[in-house]
Amino acid sequence: MNPVIRQRAPFRWDGIEVEPYKREGTHFRDVSRQVLFGAEAGLACELRYFEVDCGGHSTLERHEHVHAIVILRGAGRVLVGTQIYDVEPFDLVRVPPQTWHQLRADPEHPLGFLCLVDAKRDAPSRPTKEQLEALRTTPELATFIKT
Ligand code: MN
Repeated sequence: MNPVIRQRAPFRWDGIEVEPYKREGTHFRDVSRQVLFGAEAGLACELRYFEVDCGGHSTLERHEHVHAIVILRGAGRVLVGTQIYDVEPFDLVRVPPQTWHQLRADPEHPLGFLCLVDAKRDAPSRPTKEQLEALRTTPELATFIKT
């Protein structure tokens, strides 16, 4: 394996496939995934690069495993728990265990970010109707959250 993998275009790397974010579902929009360091890297974690196209969003979900996120491209907003934060390149985002989270790209900018996770991790869960209602307690949250 070549120790150096070149960036061949902005945020695209030689031999690294640009994959769909998740296999199926309608609870996200316009998100791609690239596994930069996966199982072959021999680590207990994986480093992925996700890109949300303009106006798109990731799934609203929570799980036991944590996310360590580094924003790399564009601009957007991030829901962590019940707070929404503006983010820009080189900001760091910590998502603790069992904390609702969703990332949205600005209407006119994509949002690209690195996301570090445990290689062995639990599956995400999405909110029930009741949990969703409990989350949508402010107009800001109600407008932000997409399912
Ligand atoms: Mn997640």
